[in-house]
Amino acid sequence: MLVNERKTGVGTKTVWAGEKEVLVHHATQVPVIVSVAYNYDDMDEWYDVAIGNKPGHIYGRNTNPTVQAFEDKLKVLEGAEDATSFTTGMAAISNTLYTFLKPGDRVVSIKDTYGGTNKIFTEFLPKIGVDVALCATGDHESIEAEVAKGCTILYLETPTNPTVKITDIERMAKAGHQTGALVVVDNTFATPILQHPLDLGADLVLHSATKFLGGHADALGGIVCGAKMLVRQIYHYREINGASLDPWSAYLLLRGMKTLKLRVLQQTKSAMALAKYLKTQPAVDHVYYPGLESHLHHDIATKQMEGYGAMLSFSLKDGMEAVKTLLPALKFAHRAANLGAVETTYGPARTTSHVECSAEERKAMGIPDGLIRISVGIEDTEDLIDDLTQAFEKLEHCQSMTR
Ligand SMILES: *Cc1c(COP(=O)(O)O)cnc(C)c1O
Repeated sequence: MLVNERKTGVGTKTVWAGEKEVLVHHATQVPVIVSVAYNYDDMDEWYDVAIGNKPGHIYGRNTNPTVQAFEDKLKVLEGAEDATSFTTGMAAISNTLYTFLKPGDRVVSIKDTYGGTNKIFTEFLPKIGVDVALCATGDHESIEAEVAKGCTILYLETPTNPTVKITDIERMAKAGHQTGALVVVDNTFATPILQHPLDLGADLVLHSATKFLGGHADALGGIVCGAKMLVRQIYHYREINGASLDPWSAYLLLRGMKTLKLRVLQQTKSAMALAKYLKTQPAVDHVYYPGLESHLHHDIATKQMEGYGAMLSFSLKDGMEAVKTLLPALKFAHRAANLGAVETTYGPARTTSHVECSAEERKAMGIPDGLIRISVGIEDTEDLIDDLTQAFEKLEHCQSMTR
C-alpha cells in the first residue's frame, strides 16, 4: 500500500505509514529493536552502511529501526521529505535552533511560545551572541517589520500555549522567505490531523510527540520534519550531541499514533462544546478558544486549520482563589502539567506552561493569574460538561459561605 500518496487519508496514514520496512518474521506489529549495535559479516557492506551509501543501521545513537518507523510515519503525515526524532520536544526545538544558528545571527519569534522555548530565546541564545526579537503574538505587522530587518530563523508556534492565539503561517512564511529566513513551526497543539505547516509554506515543522502524537502521557519524544537537505543537518547535530529517541518510547509513540485521528476529532468536538458551555458560566471571566467567533484570530484559524483543536483555556473572575476550589472538585480530570492525553487534564498556567516565569512576566504576556488550561480528553462530552457543572456549583457554594 502506497501510504505516502497525497490522496491517502490522514487516518489511514496514521495506521499504515512507515511500518512495512521494519516488520520481521511476518509480524503485523512494529518490533522494539533494543540492539545498540548491528553486526556485519561483510566488511564492505559494513563500510557502505557506515558511510551512508547503503541503508542500514550501525549504532543506536544514530539510527534504530523502531525509531525510524516513527520518523517515517511522521514524515508521511506531515508531507515532508525527511524527519528526525529526539528524546523530547525541547530537544527537537533546541537541536533545530542550534543546528542553524551562530553568533551574530538573529531570530524572530513570538512572546507566547512554549515556556521552555521562551527560555531558550531569552536565556540561552543571547549567551552565544544570537539576538532574539520576540513580537506580540498575533501582531502580524510587527512580526513582518522585525523579519524585514533580517533574520536567520523565523520561529512560530500556533495555536499557542495557553491562550490559544493563532498566527497566519502562510503570510509569515512569505515574509520570512523574502529575507531568506528559515521558517520553523511548532505544530504540537494542532497535530498533523488539523494543520499542515509545510503546505502553508513553512520549511520545518516540529512536535513535542509527548503530547497528542503519543496521546497517552506515557512516553517523551520530539520530531522535526522538512526538506532532506535541512533535516540531514539537524540529524547530524543530534547524532553528535546525542539526544536520540529511545526505541521503547518510539514504540509507545507509534502505538499511540494509530488512534491519533479518532482522538483528535473527539477531543476537538468536546473542546468546542466546553468552550461554549464555559462562556455561559457567571464565574468565568474569559474563554480562549479559536473555534469561538469571539476569538481574535477565529478567521485565520478557520482558513489554515481543519478543526480548532483540543486546547482551550479560561480565566475565573476570582482568580487563583477560585482556581483552588474549582480544580480539586473535578472528577474526570488530571490536575497535571502535561497535555494531549486521552484523559482531560486541567492546569493553571502559573504551574504548568509558564511555571518558569514570574507573576510579572506572565502578566506582561497577557496571562491572567486565574487562567486554567484544559487539554480535552476523549471522554464523553456530556460527562465533561456535567463534571464542570457540579464543580461550578461547589465553587458557588464556597463563595456564598465566605461572603
Ligand atoms: C510540551 C511542549 C513542548 C516541549 O515538549 P517536551 O516533550 O515536554 O520537551 C514544546 N512545544 C509545545 C507547544 C509543547 O506543548
